[in-house]
Amino acid sequence: MTESLHAVCPHCSSVNRVPADRPASEARCGVCKAKLFTGEPIVLTSKTFDKHVERNDMPLIVDFWAPWCGPCRAMAPIFERAAHEQGDGLVVERFQDEHARTREQRRVDFEGRVLRGGAD
Ligand SMILES: [Zn+2]
Repeated sequence: MTESLHAVCPHCSSVNRVPADRPASEARCGVCKAKLFTGEPIVLTSKTFDKHVERNDMPLIVDFWAPWCGPCRAMAPIFERAAHEQGDGLVVERFQDEHARTREQRRVDFEGRVLRGGAD
């Protein structure tokens, strides 16, 4: 039996099973048929945050940012480049809502970024 990983669709937030031995660049959502790995940061909202962070088996970086935060704006191009270069194996997500409160809830470091490994 082929091992599979869960990947959350960046378009419709459906949870998909992706065979671990197939190229991620070809994976498409079973519900909306869009590509699961786009090479672009996924923009999260407070409605989609939990599902994307908790149901994804893929390595994940979450950038907690706010438009008024200078360091956040300075780091944005680096996250975009990481998403582009590592798009098949790494999910880069960007979360703007409730910037400060979510940081506290998630106990992320002061830079406001979470790096989590893949499937446990
Ligand atoms: Zn979808």
